[in-house]
Amino acid sequence: MAAEIRLFPCLSDNFGYLIHDPASKATASIDAPEAAPVIKALQREGWHLTDILVTHHHADHVGGIAELKQKYDCRVVAPHDKAAAIPLVDERVKEGDTVMVGTLSARVLETPGHTLDHVSYVFDSERALFAADTLFSVGCGRVFEGTYPMMWDSLKKLRALPDDTRLYCGHEYTAANVKFALTIEPNNPALKARAAEVARLRAENKPTIPTLIGDEKRSNVFLRADDADVAAALHMKGMTAADVFGELRERKNKS
Ligand SMILES: [Zn+2]
Repeated sequence: MAAEIRLFPCLSDNFGYLIHDPASKATASIDAPEAAPVIKALQREGWHLTDILVTHHHADHVGGIAELKQKYDCRVVAPHDKAAAIPLVDERVKEGDTVMVGTLSARVLETPGHTLDHVSYVFDSERALFAADTLFSVGCGRVFEGTYPMMWDSLKKLRALPDDTRLYCGHEYTAANVKFALTIEPNNPALKARAAEVARLRAENKPTIPTLIGDEKRSNVFLRADDADVAAALHMKGMTAADVFGELRERKNKS
């Protein structure tokens, strides 16, 4: 039976996510930005929280764990990096591990760069990727703890997923990402189409998520740092993809 996925806003621009397994009635929250909207979404659906799958240690992804754990006695699954301050962890995961949510199976991909502990969860049978702050629609996370080559490798790992994989990311940053991407690739038809779609969705106060990995491969300049046209647009012909990626990221930081 196919999983049911719900997304809802948390804090100022985070997404909260629930993935529910109708067969076992298990429900996981992907991260826990804050407890109240997660509880509200659970109550609306009549679901019981069994698991929290944590992507990384930032406060806007773990702030609701304590309250949810107390209310539901759910399992907390978090990245292996024990140095990261994630509260109440029951289980640590690393690259290649499988996490079960009832009968649903998620694969753990280590995607460091934004933080060193960052992991993404892929539900292969559902074609669903929860990439938190590694890959955004038409953008990517800031590189706080890792290096540009490290973050570029993480993005390539996500880019390699099937085109029909739905991307569920950590923040509603798409409109700002589109604005920046157009400064690099004003003539990219996929980006222009995405820009129109995002403008329409935001005008209707609708989320721009999920998107498809196949669409991101065409519209997201951060996934194409190894494309000769992108290097040329930055006057970086012949430079490494990691260098091109780093330049893109620095320009975005300043935008
Ligand atoms: Zn973060």
